[in-house]
Amino acid sequence: MAPRARKTYNLGTMSFQGKIEASCPSCEEAFETPVWSFVHGEGDPALREQIKARECNLLLCPRCGAAFMPETAWVYYEPGAEILAFVFPESWSGDEARWREKMEADVAQMREALGARLPVDLEPEVYFGQEGLGALLESEDWRVDERDVMAHYAKELGLQVFKASPRWARASGAPAELPYQGRGQPTREALIAGLKALVAANDRLTAWSDFLAKLEKDRGAGVPPAAAAR
Ligand SMILES: [Zn+2]
Repeated sequence: MAPRARKTYNLGTMSFQGKIEASCPSCEEAFETPVWSFVHGEGDPALREQIKARECNLLLCPRCGAAFMPETAWVYYEPGAEILAFVFPESWSGDEARWREKMEADVAQMREALGARLPVDLEPEVYFGQEGLGALLESEDWRVDERDVMAHYAKELGLQVFKASPRWARASGAPAELPYQGRGQPTREALIAGLKALVAANDRLTAWSDFLAKLEKDRGAGVPPAAAAR
């Protein structure tokens, strides 16, 4: 039997557009236009900025000049931050179950195409409208700024930095990068020692002092899951 032909789309870091027939909500003009169907946030920083401005795929009617969001779904992918998101039009939110089902089918197809490059446990998030995704990207940027300050202190103090899973960090309200003392893989004790040294050096790094308090209180908590190797 011949080996099954496999579609080899190399997603790499590319974003893709598709053509749709858009209809202006103001004057009802119908026109064909390209829209983004897949946005790679690392490959296309300008598109990532557009999402933060809530303007990705915003169309202008060629007849009356009205600005509007087309009735089209798109995917956002940012592997470094472990974000895979489906963005459906806001007006589709009444039919959430149906679109979630469609999303599951699309993800299965993407897994087949991407194989190991799409982490198996990466659960996609669903948004209706891009407000939620825009807010998520903003808070990720804020975290990166704070992380840079932390990294500076960690280096000064001779601490190692453990990279935890960004998704775990978002879900736990914890920083994704954690200083620890010693060499090799961190232990719970090494993390506590590293966090103590960090917050003693800079008491404004509250994300880390909060996490330290949580870690010390919860004796069952161990070392968080690591970020996927890339
Ligand atoms: Zn119009």
